[in-house]
Amino acid sequence: MAPTPPPLDPALERLVRTMPKAELHIHIEGSLEPELIFVLAQRNGVSLPYPSVEALRAAYAFTDLQSFLDIYYAGAGVLVTEQDFFDMAWAYLERARADGITRAEIFFDPQTHTERGVPFSTVIGGLARACDEARGALGVNAALILCFLRHLSEEAALATLEQALPYRDRFIGVGLDSSEVGHPPEKFARVFAKARDLGLRRVAHAGEEGPPAYIRSALDVLHAERIDHGVQSLKDPALVARLKAERIPLTVCPLSNVKLCVFEDLSRHNLRELLDAGLVAMINSDDPAYFGGYLNRNFVETFAALGLDAGHAYRLARNGFEASFATPEEKAADIAALDRHFDACGFAAPE
Ligand SMILES: [Zn+2]
Repeated sequence: MAPTPPPLDPALERLVRTMPKAELHIHIEGSLEPELIFVLAQRNGVSLPYPSVEALRAAYAFTDLQSFLDIYYAGAGVLVTEQDFFDMAWAYLERARADGITRAEIFFDPQTHTERGVPFSTVIGGLARACDEARGALGVNAALILCFLRHLSEEAALATLEQALPYRDRFIGVGLDSSEVGHPPEKFARVFAKARDLGLRRVAHAGEEGPPAYIRSALDVLHAERIDHGVQSLKDPALVARLKAERIPLTVCPLSNVKLCVFEDLSRHNLRELLDAGLVAMINSDDPAYFGGYLNRNFVETFAALGLDAGHAYRLARNGFEASFATPEEKAADIAALDRHFDACGFAAPE
């Protein structure tokens, strides 16, 4: 067991909790709380292999990525109607607002649903409506990124992209998620090339459990513009130099990494080293319902465990806005709001 870190200075904690932020690595199916799983199961007449909310929560004792994914796909099985997808996204967006998130780029896994017979239009219809309404009702500027499941074939990914084309204006990019090891980025070269031709933005999970070589091929073969996780990059100094020179963002997820045993505990997480190396790293929640917390909990626990300060807070928040796929005007407005927030809290925004 790691020693309990001293609590954060209250002024620093308030600054971190209330500062405007972007979240760029959130799987919407991973925001499905046990309570909502039970509500949707009842609404749709789906039987669950758990007798209660408590029993389902107790089953969230993962040992690795695969044991998490097994329960994650079971939970997603309660999503049937467009309203279900709306309700799931809305629950996340309300939490996002509470955590100071002003820009969210939300991953969704259509194959998890289309493989169960749920039409693509149902999935994207509910999610996109929630994003549209969030801008006015919650002040959260949200966009969708369609992820391919890497344990399935590239043919299945190509078919999914084909299904998505009539809804091209409802999502901004594509990503690659699910079981990393044994499924290198090269497997998805053609579908990412097609997405690129269509003008879609590109991200990919790489270097979570997999080797630095997967990060290189995500960049070289998939032309990924951001790397999701990327924490294994420090094993390869030449790769670190490249990530720094090309300012490739890394969407780091501290609580997820601990829950899935990528790091033994938060005090051993390498986020501080990533920042010290000059990399464009930021904090995200990944699958918050399953990994022990939404964005602010990731921030507060990581700051306490690693002894990070207001300068780190500014850098992390600013990296998030700079790495987002928002328009230049939206990014400038978000960064201006961040600077004003630091001023108002009595912390100078570092240059
Ligand atoms: Zn992820």
